[in-house]
Amino acid sequence: MTIKMAMELYFCEICRFAYKDRETAEKCEDWCRKHKSCSLEITKSAVGEIKNEK
Ligand SMILES: [Zn+2]
Repeated sequence: MTIKMAMELYFCEICRFAYKDRETAEKCEDWCRKHKSCSLEITKSAVGEIKNEK
């Protein structure tokens, strides 16, 4: 399966989940900052995740 990342995605800087809309990405970032963990409610709408690159 080929995944195309042509569409614009927004990332949470903290947990690095990707979202299709900026609003959700910002919500995630706020949550991550405050709680130092992710909200399942938010991350379930994530479309992907950036893997840490060495
Ligand atoms: Zn996050």
